[in-house]
Order: sequence, then structure tokens, then C-alpha cells
Amino acid sequence: MDAFLPPYEPRQVLDPADPVSIGAMVGPEAFEEVRYLAHLRQLDALERIPSLAEAFAEAVGRPSGGLLHAYRTADAETIVVALGSVLGTIKDAVDARREAGERIGVVGITAFRPFPVMRAGRSLGCPARRGRREGLQHRLRRCAFDRRRDGDPRGPGSLRTVIAGLGGRPITRRSLEVMLVAAGQDQLPPLTFLDLDHAIVERERGRMTRTRRSGPSAENILATSDRRVADWLRSPYDDTSGALLYQVGSFAAGNRLLDDDQRSVQADPNRSNSLDSGHRACQGCGEALGARYALDAAMRATHGQLVAVNATGCLEVFSTPYPETSWRIPWLHSSSATRRPLPLGWRLR
Ligand code: SF4
Repeated sequence: MDAFLPPYEPRQVLDPADPVSIGAMVGPEAFEEVRYLAHLRQLDALERIPSLAEAFAEAVGRPSGGLLHAYRTADAETIVVALGSVLGTIKDAVDARREAGERIGVVGITAFRPFPVMRAGRSLGCPARRGRREGLQHRLRRCAFDRRRDGDPRGPGSLRTVIAGLGGRPITRRSLEVMLVAAGQDQLPPLTFLDLDHAIVERERGRMTRTRRSGPSAENILATSDRRVADWLRSPYDDTSGALLYQVGSFAAGNRLLDDDQRSVQADPNRSNSLDSGHRACQGCGEALGARYALDAAMRATHGQLVAVNATGCLEVFSTPYPETSWRIPWLHSSSATRRPLPLGWRLR
């Protein structure tokens, strides 16, 4: 591993005994240069990742990372382009459709930043034009246009977008197979929201039109839905009336009126206070509350020896408005794209 890592000489250390917040934010005096440097490094990485991935695979005996990987694409007429953990389920669905005789494959994007536009384009049979920089979607559309114009015997091809898994909704193999069948028959609309319940959406749209009020849509949908989540909204201490609490999963309402053994950590006067008051989350922010619950549990489990990594998002923005911080434990922010590898690179002293 040492061949792939610099020598261990940390310049900054996260120490629970001496907490500091380390973020990526800088002031206007250096921001542009910092961002441009990051851009240059991304371009360098695009060049270097393939050879490093090869060397890594040779050293450890298994593939890891790289820019992208292709699966059963050699003779594919339909290719799914996706990234993330859903790729495993997509490959299962592709295998099933292959057994049914359909020529389907997958290109899995392994590196999102830098995004491998050139390689992805080549994998999809759409090489770059000399001297042109294009995004992937633009390139594929241009390629389809060129093929139609040139009367390419393969046909122009078409590009479809599928949005799935929003809010953590499961992406099932069955739904993917239905989608792949439709794609193979060229019956997939240009934009598809997988497993979207159109009846619920239309009902809520009708309600908003009738009442001339916009919300609260999530509660209306959940409360009138026969789906699995309706019960989540019920307070466990008020299940006779079925009263709905706005903060799903929070037991904070009426906490101090409960018996001791029913109270959550929020009612404990000795709870750790890893994320301090005074941050700038919206009132009643569920993310702030969720973070405090998670931090309380983690602080207990680690006996206070905790450091936090935070991807870009509301939690990072509202807790560390430059140059302030609400974190009372060591905290490190990095970009969304590096939230997974970042803690993997940590080493305990
Ligand atoms: S997650 Fe962000 S936008 Fe949503 S309530 Fe919290 S601070 Fe506000």
C-alpha cells in the first residue's frame, strides 16, 4: 500500500482532546486560485487514474476503482449507464434480460469527479470529435444526429434518462427489468421516474388546486397512502389517537413528560453536546436533529473519542458558516464526491 500513499507525515491532526473544525472554505482573497488548483488536479487525475488502477489491481490481485467498467457491452444494443451501489442490481437485471435473449449491457461509472467523459463516450461507441469538448449527454445526442445524417446501418440510437432511488427508495430488480424491457422495445419515454406513483401525485395536485394551498405535500401523501410508511408518522406514545407529529422519528415532543425509561437521550441533562446551539439550520430542521441523535449515540459508543467527517450539504453549511463553527468535536469537511474515500484515508495515531 505504501507505493500508493505518501509518507505518513500528517500536517493537521484531529484530536478529541483538542477539537478543531477543518473545512474547504476560504475567503475571496484565495478562493478562485484554490478552486482552479482543484480543477487542475482533477484533470491530472483523469490522466493518471487508469494506469494507477491497473498497477493497484496488479499489486492486490483484484480490480478496484478506475474510471469506469463495462459489463456485457460487446454486442449490446441497449446499454445502461449508471454509478453507485445500484450497479449490482442493474447487473442482475441485465443478466436476467440476457437470458431472455435481449442484448443489454452496462457501463458503470466508477469515478464521478473527474467525470470520464471521453472514456464513457468511447465505451458507448461515440468517440470524441477532434478539438471538441462536450459533456456526455451532448456527445451522445450529437452522435445520434451524425448517425442519422450519415445513414449509419446501426441506426441513430436514442438516449433515455431514468431517475430512481430518490430519498433512498429501493431500486428493485423487478422495476429495473420492466424498465429494460421498455427500453429494448424503444418504448421508454425520454425521461422516466422509476416507480413513481402517478395516482398519488395527481391526487395531491388536485388537492392543492382545490384548496389553493401548497402543502404539506409529504404529510398528505403519507397520511393518505396505503404504503408502508404511514405508520412511521405516528407517535409511539399516541397511537390511540393516531396524531401525526411533524418530526418523523423524533421522540423529542413531550420528552420530559415521559417515564425515565421511555425518554430519549435528548432529555438527558448529561448528554454530550457535539453540535452546539447557534448554528444556522432552519427552525425544526430534521437533519440537525438527526445529526445530534447520531452524534449522541456515537459519542456514547466511543466514550467521547469521536471525530466527524461531513460531506457538502446543509449540515456542513449551517454548522460552519465561515469562519465560525458549531462543532465541539474534531470535524473535517470535504466535497460530496469524496465523502466515502475521505474517512478511509484516516489513520489513528
Ligand atoms: S436540511 Fe437544510 S434546508 Fe432542510 S430544514 Fe435543515 S437546514 Fe433547512
